[in-house]
This record gives sequence, structure tokens and C-alpha cells, in this order.
Amino acid sequence: MLKVRIFGGGREVGRAAVGLRHDDKRFLLMDYGVNFDENDEPRLPEHVRPTDVAGLVLTHAHLDHVGAAPLLGVAGRVPVVTTGLTKRLSELMIRDFIKISGYYLPYEEADLINMLENTYEYSYGAEADVEGYSVKLINAGHIPGSSMVYVEVNDYKVIYTGDVNTIDTRLIPRASNPGLTADAVIIEGTYGWIEHPSRELVENEFIYSLREVTDRGGNVLIPAFSLGRAQEILSLLCERFKGDVYYDGMVRQIYEVLVSYPEYINKYELLLKSKEEFKPVVRPSQRRRVAEGGGNVVVASAGMLKGGPALYYLKRLAGNPGNAVFMVSYQAPGTPGRSLLEEGIPSEEVGPVKARVQWFDFSSHAGLDGLLELLRGFKGVSHVVIVHTSEKAGNVFMSKVKETFNDVEVHLPRNNEEVVLRE
Ligand SMILES: [Zn+2]
Ligand SMILES: [Zn+2]
Repeated sequence: MLKVRIFGGGREVGRAAVGLRHDDKRFLLMDYGVNFDENDEPRLPEHVRPTDVAGLVLTHAHLDHVGAAPLLGVAGRVPVVTTGLTKRLSELMIRDFIKISGYYLPYEEADLINMLENTYEYSYGAEADVEGYSVKLINAGHIPGSSMVYVEVNDYKVIYTGDVNTIDTRLIPRASNPGLTADAVIIEGTYGWIEHPSRELVENEFIYSLREVTDRGGNVLIPAFSLGRAQEILSLLCERFKGDVYYDGMVRQIYEVLVSYPEYINKYELLLKSKEEFKPVVRPSQRRRVAEGGGNVVVASAGMLKGGPALYYLKRLAGNPGNAVFMVSYQAPGTPGRSLLEEGIPSEEVGPVKARVQWFDFSSHAGLDGLLELLRGFKGVSHVVIVHTSEKAGNVFMSKVKETFNDVEVHLPRNNEEVVLRE
């Protein structure tokens, strides 16, 4: 019998953790990430005993996919399979996570080190054998180094998409879909209920709005996720915007890593050029100058304004209607970023924001059409399992998949639920 067990990401976005289990084999676990509750405390996925895990595959370095992974190293030695870049980025992200949230975490740095020592790097297309599960990583187009996972076990083939994007960006080429046969597809459904606007339109509006503010001497804060989104925006600015651009926070360290992995970057020369042309902010005095200057653009983490230099700039820029805050990242419910967009007040601490606030859809997740197109690209699909989506989006996506494909069983499991793929 072949089963999928959902340890996290069942009818929720994030906390991704999917276990595949064949007969008497141990679990092949794919991702082991975290979520955050309304008090910003991390929520772990459901427990799985490390001795029940044959191996862990990490699709990409976002915390909602890797944040709980070191836990598996606490009691045992679970081998980890991932790309070289994801390994490097996961180390950075988890170290930062321990620094910020360590108090709430049931693991510590030694467990991270243990995990990294047991991590094996695979390039796209190379085959890893994990106790009889054959595993291949395929470009997922989501962030640099991100993968879909292709698993073959006893003639049964399963694709787990992780987070996936089906359009080309400057940073990464779209998800590869080499026409593989897949009996089951475990697919993310974050935006399974909507279409994104065309990226070209979004970019035009973004550049136009930036010019509008900076030409009149206003400063623009662009809070962005330090991994991926920030570098995509900086590449876009390098190509289409002339002006003073700065970057601050974790963005800096991630930039350093990305420029040493050209094989994962779509427009590598542009990324390199943007890093040479734009200025990192390293000292507090410099930060003050950027905030007090005129016509400056600063890309800073954290993307949801939960802290970091982005919060510093927000406090400095908020009171002047000539300034602007351009949001380019997903804003989870309950975060200051979401409150700013919905109510104009990110938090009591900051108070009402007079600066212009605008949202731009630079999502790195496929929308409905992209997800359906991806599914269409696999041959012989009999089961679709939807994860990493809200209840609402998941239900819409489920009915669209049913409408589009006959003879496919579609599942929207909850955490701790099991789906039987083959009796
Ligand atoms: Zn995710
Ligand atoms: Zn992600």
C-alpha cells in the first residue's frame, strides 16, 4: 500500500510537511516547516518519530518548509536530500530563526549542525536513493534552488510540487515540466482560486509609481522577503529604474550567497550588476541618512514589517504623505503588513501611516491557470492531493481540478489525515 500522510500544510498555508509511505518502508518525508500564530510564535508540524523517517527531502529554504527540519536531527540521524543552494540558504535562514525565535524552539544550533552534516546535495535531475525511494529534484521556479520532488517507488510515481511558479522571472526560470508520468501529484494550492495579473502590467505600474514618488523627492520603502523577492525587485530596478537604491537587512547576506550560485539564476549578469550598482546599508548612521534623504528607494526585510530594518524605515517614513511604502510580498493575516494594507495602521507602536501605501502582486506562486497547466503536463495522473492552501482557496482549486480532469481523484486533506494512493 502507498499512502500520503499530511504532517503540516493541510488546509493551511505554510508548515509544509508531507510523508510518503510504502508498505513496510519508513516515511519519505518532504519538507518539515513552521507557521506562525497570531502572537508570532512558531507552530511546528505534527510530530513524526525520527526513527520512522527514512529520509527528508527539502524543496526550498523558506522557513515554512525547513523551519522544523533540525528537530529530526535531535534524536537520530535522518539523511536530508536537497540542492546545494537550498542547503546553504537553509543554514542562513534557520540560524536567523534560532536567533529571533530560539526561545520557542525545541531544537538548538547543535541540532542544525547535525542536520547539515547529514545533508546530501543533489543537482536537478540527479537520482538519490533513500531506502528504496528513488528521488529526483526538478526546478520549481519558486526561489533560487527550489525543487519539485519526483519519487518512484515500486513502479508508482509521485510528484510533490513544493511551492511552485510557472512564469519566468529575472531571478529564476519557470518550473520545468518535462512531461513526466506521475500517478499522483501532491500540489500546492496557495493561489488555486485566483489568477495573478500579468507580470508585465504589475512591473509597469510599479516602476511608474516609483518614479512618481521619487521625482518629487519622496522616499520609498519596499519591504521584501530577504530570500528571493528582494533580489527579484533589485534586478527589476537595475533594469528599469534610474535612481538611488539601497538594500538592508538579511537581504545582504542572501545576495552574497545567490551570486555564488550562477547555475540557479535566470539573469545572472543582471543580478550581479544590481549588486554592484546598488548600495548595502550596514551602519545605523547610514540608515538614518537613507531615511532622511530625498528620492531614495530602499529594499529591506522583513517583508511583512514584523521587524528588522523595514520597521525602522517605516517609522521614519510613515508621517510624510510625500513618501511611500510599496508592498511586494505576501502579507499573512495578523501581521503588521496586512494591517497596514487593510486599515492603514500597521501597529499601535507605529500608528496611522500618512505615506502612500500600495500593493503589487509579485507572487512567486503559480495562480490557478499556472497550476492547471502544470497538472496537464504530467501523464497518467489518477490522484491529486492539494496542500499548502487555505480552506477557502483549496475548495475552489479542488472543484476547478475536478472540472478540468475526468477520472482523477482529488483530495484536500487536513493535518494528520492519510490519503491512500494505491491499495
Ligand atoms: Zn511555502
Ligand atoms: Zn516558499
